[in-house]
Amino acid sequence: MKYISVAIDGPVGAGKSTVARESAKRLGFIYCDTGALYRAVGLYCTEKGADLDDACKVAAVLDEIKVEICLIDGVQHVFLNGRDVSEEIRLPEISLAASAVSAVAEVRAALLGIQREIAENNNVVMDGRDIGTVVLPNADVKIFLTAAPEVRAKRRYDELIRKGSNVTYEEVLADLNKRDYNDSHRAEAPLKQADDAILADTTDMDFGQSVEFVCRTVKERL
Ligand code: C5P
Repeated sequence: MKYISVAIDGPVGAGKSTVARESAKRLGFIYCDTGALYRAVGLYCTEKGADLDDACKVAAVLDEIKVEICLIDGVQHVFLNGRDVSEEIRLPEISLAASAVSAVAEVRAALLGIQREIAENNNVVMDGRDIGTVVLPNADVKIFLTAAPEVRAKRRYDELIRKGSNVTYEEVLADLNKRDYNDSHRAEAPLKQADDAILADTTDMDFGQSVEFVCRTVKERL
């Protein structure tokens, strides 16, 4: 059986995860957040005290790590060596750790199979940075979701504040710019719009309009 895959890529805070999750629900597909895999590796390296800027050190710990994604009541959980780390990986310092380890070729290679296997066995909306370009180059629909940096930073800031964080808007904007720079300038699978991806600039769209855009685009393309 051929399953349908929808690839959603874009920079930090474009609303990928919330928009992709809700769109998947409406389409009756599963949702896969691939950033969680890189975050789990980033968490492990942070806990181990590995130098995140040393690709050899990061690659060396990969043998010690088993990362798994499971759906529990329709919600994605990430397990690191059997431990559910779904909450911990959301800490801001783990965002930067994830961005650092994601530049390491061995890390990307180790996580590729997990992502492809999910798409081979499910109708899926998968979000990340390189889904349409590297992970699922034959995805049925590809969308590049973006928005102006200040708007993305404000959305991310509001989300973190809602979760009880005491970060400042300036910190969030600086983190976002740093991660976007790292993600777009790395040699391995840099963040970029696939040639055949549809651009969705959500600067002037609210959440509902963004979901509507994604669902309509998917239906039109299938
Ligand atoms: O999407 P999220 O912000 O959770 O991703 C965390 C980090 O993981 C990103 O900044 C990026 O460096 C990396 N990532 C990646 N490729 C993906 C998904 C995430 O390099 N497909």
